[in-house]
Amino acid sequence: MYVGRFAPSPTGPLHFGSLVAAVASYCEAKANQGLWLVRMEDLDRPREMKGAADAILHQLEAFGFEWDSEVIYQSKRNEFYSEILQQLKQQQLIYPCTCTRKEIADSSNQIGIDSIIYPKTCLTHPPKTNAPIAWRIKTSPTLIKFNDAIQGSLEQNIADQVGDFVLKRADGLYAYQLAVVADDAEQKITHVVRGADLLDSTSRQIYLQQQLNYNALQYAHVPVASNIAGDKLSKQTLAKAIEVHTANHLLYDALSFLGQHPPAEIKNATLKEIWHWCGSNWQLTNIPKTRKISVPS
Ligand code: GLU
Ligand code: ZN
Repeated sequence: MYVGRFAPSPTGPLHFGSLVAAVASYCEAKANQGLWLVRMEDLDRPREMKGAADAILHQLEAFGFEWDSEVIYQSKRNEFYSEILQQLKQQQLIYPCTCTRKEIADSSNQIGIDSIIYPKTCLTHPPKTNAPIAWRIKTSPTLIKFNDAIQGSLEQNIADQVGDFVLKRADGLYAYQLAVVADDAEQKITHVVRGADLLDSTSRQIYLQQQLNYNALQYAHVPVASNIAGDKLSKQTLAKAIEVHTANHLLYDALSFLGQHPPAEIKNATLKEIWHWCGSNWQLTNIPKTRKISVPS
């Protein structure tokens, strides 16, 4: 059984990049007679834009997407994440950390794929008392390897390239990495199709799945829109791209972006006809690894 999902963060309305991820995950689920679920990743309340979650659902509806189960909201699942954290605590896989950003910056000059590698200070010295606590997972130098259906075979050494990463932040928020792994497992997701901006997070998620004895998932990371010069497009530019077009034009653009070569008639077709076309023509193997586009600026 194939279970796919689309997991937007409501930091703003759907933009061209998120539409591409939605289309790809939807078409691939349909092509495999699978289920397609929508999960609202609204954990980071401070970064959320008021009304964006509803706006995204309305946009999805307007494009004719149909999801197979009730939408779940991560903001309502703290108890569940707390149980998972507890389980990791019992397995002695996590430890409290009270280091501030500055302390970490001053104590390490080892740079990983997205920030400084945490030098395990609180693992070797008792953490401060009366300071806000973050929870980190211990990592050891094991190589995580996976085969991405679009990007090919990839590997990452978590300890060397990421370090002991945070599962619960000092401000009390659960980290994306924990929530995504917990929810994918609980929703019985089998296949993840999402933007390649999350490629670097995948090894962390696989590592966590392994520690929690969860099933392995299949991954496919679709290209992230970049401009002709190769710079990743900002959310603003991508949002603009969605304002100026009708739903069928946008679906045409998204399918073209995904290497599906939709016929020009799609631009004037009904949504039903477009999804029908996808049903018989969608090919994951046509998706390019990277993609450059020109968009209205
Ligand atoms: N919520 C994430 C985002 O919008 C996607 C998470 C995922 O698909 O794993 O970037
Ligand atoms: Zn620390």
